[in-house]
Amino acid sequence: MTNSKIIMQCDNLTKTYIDGENKVSVLKGVNLTINSAEHVAIVGSSGSGKSTLLHIMGALDFPTSGQVTYQGTNIHKLSTNQQAEFRNQSLGFVYQFHHLLAEFSAVENVAMPLLIAGEKRSQALKKAQDMLELVGLSHRLKHFPSALSGGERQRVAIARAIVNKPKIVLADEPTGNLDAENAQSIFKLIDELKANLSTSFVFVTHDLALAARMDKQYRLIKGEIAQGLTQ
Ligand code: ADP
Ligand code: MG
Repeated sequence: MTNSKIIMQCDNLTKTYIDGENKVSVLKGVNLTINSAEHVAIVGSSGSGKSTLLHIMGALDFPTSGQVTYQGTNIHKLSTNQQAEFRNQSLGFVYQFHHLLAEFSAVENVAMPLLIAGEKRSQALKKAQDMLELVGLSHRLKHFPSALSGGERQRVAIARAIVNKPKIVLADEPTGNLDAENAQSIFKLIDELKANLSTSFVFVTHDLALAARMDKQYRLIKGEIAQGLTQ
């Protein structure tokens, strides 16, 4: 049964890494529902499985058992091409380290998902420019990543993640590499984007104060997910 308000659902996800004789159970039955336009924070100590969970939600990795459904479709049952299309069209990803392409300008980096999707270059660059304006970087269009500050690079990375107007953005410690002031301003930006986009955001963060500003909070402890930031 599909519910139009639910964008993504994780059902009883488990992930076990087998490394020689060692078995590491990272996720032990994670259930998580992400609703349309909802901003969700996930906190957890280093090594608690946050990146593993996001990668599985983004079809960059597969679960050992359980399933992830995006608008009712099991994303791990899609073909490789369909998964690539899902990541390009329906999903945005923001990493701790911006992952921008060094040899391309800010506007070209943001246009990349559109160009990959086959959009005309002039149109892709126009949309990318609009996105950079939305994240407050209209004065940095032609700058290369090396000429941008850490906070500006993350803004470009966010613009790139939302340029296709995805239904959901998965952000893995997007402010983990920034000072407190820049981290605040990135979260403020993401708050402001609510007015312009109906995109759901899932943030993994160490910062409890920033996490508290999201609509919902979860913590990942010993492979299990619990609601709220504290017990
Ligand atoms: P977090 O993002 O919360 O810091 P991760 O999801 O990166 O945690 O990692 C969770 C656990 O899974 C860690 O103990 C890590 O060593 C282990 N792990 C992650 N990826 C692999 C892998 N490819 N092979 C084996 N163990 C892994
Ligand atoms: Mg991580």
